[in-house]
Amino acid sequence: MRHLSEKQFWIYMRNFSAIGAIMMLSFAFVSAQMNLTELPIGGSISDAPEVGSVWSCSKSFDGRGATGNGPWLNLNAGTFDSTAKAIVDGAINWNGEFEAVIVGDNRIFTGNQVPVTHPTGIFPIASSDDAYQYDRNPHTITEQTISLEVPANPTIADVSSCLNMGAIGIMRTGVVLFNSLDAVGRDAVAYETQDACEGHPESTGEYHYHNLSECVDELDNEEGHSLLMGYAFDGFGLYGHRGEDGEELTNEDLDECHGHTHLIEWDGVMVEMYHYHATYEYPYTLGCFRGTPVVTQQQIGGQQPQSESRQPQGNGNLPQGDNRPPQGNGNPPPGGGNPPPKPGG
Ligand SMILES: [Zn+2]
Ligand SMILES: [Zn+2]
Repeated sequence: MRHLSEKQFWIYMRNFSAIGAIMMLSFAFVSAQMNLTELPIGGSISDAPEVGSVWSCSKSFDGRGATGNGPWLNLNAGTFDSTAKAIVDGAINWNGEFEAVIVGDNRIFTGNQVPVTHPTGIFPIASSDDAYQYDRNPHTITEQTISLEVPANPTIADVSSCLNMGAIGIMRTGVVLFNSLDAVGRDAVAYETQDACEGHPESTGEYHYHNLSECVDELDNEEGHSLLMGYAFDGFGLYGHRGEDGEELTNEDLDECHGHTHLIEWDGVMVEMYHYHATYEYPYTLGCFRGTPVVTQQQIGGQQPQSESRQPQGNGNLPQGDNRPPQGNGNPPPGGGNPPPKPGG
């Protein structure tokens, strides 16, 4: 027996680390609550706060969503394989701007609503993109000014509120969060296609997520309670997938609005406070507002309410949601791509 040379030692350590990493990965896999290849297809809509459901302000869903059911959907089993979804191609970089600053009793969000930390796919979805056969999202991502104030230290309202269509919060990446429904009132995460960061634009070009994007989630820590991933538009924080003991949370662990109250770090101070969590299961983020929402509509870029519409722009009163044009009509131009973002825009 001889001593390991320094080089051998490091090779040994590297192999050891690799084995350790594999063991940790498999541990993480088996310990996960939700099987990402067999997530339940959601879509439950309620008229009141209800666990596992979206309390939606909108009850009429006559828009159009994805055109076809992707092979990742197992409609018989009522599940979908979130790891096998078609992903909209492309990696376009933007000059994203986002700030959240406290002024007096308020937290003020300003930005241009394109991602600060990650690229986006190419929209409209190109006809050469595999995602096109399931979803012909014809919209182009555009920068849009956001300037919105929420209470810096929100409190639970006497009554909860329904979730509007359009933005219900904003994430650390400067991208807004929509609720989990598409224009047809279905589970947007299950049915629609998004880019590699789980975002896509609606009819006004507003880029948004419907769940905790992996590109936001990667900004989370790796153990213990998740970090703050963004803010709901009632001012409460939206945290990642893990609760106080570092365990992955499910709907059962959370209230009807998808949150709970315990000690959290809030602006650098530990406080006992309500907050939302992301889950891997529907409704993914919020089920309702537990605080008082400062909603959104006009404050965001002066747009119409319910900006998720997929109808052609300039059409006044639109159904909300991830509308798509009828098939065989109004298809996006083939090979479409976004113009490069304007510098400093
Ligand atoms: Zn928590
Ligand atoms: Zn959407």
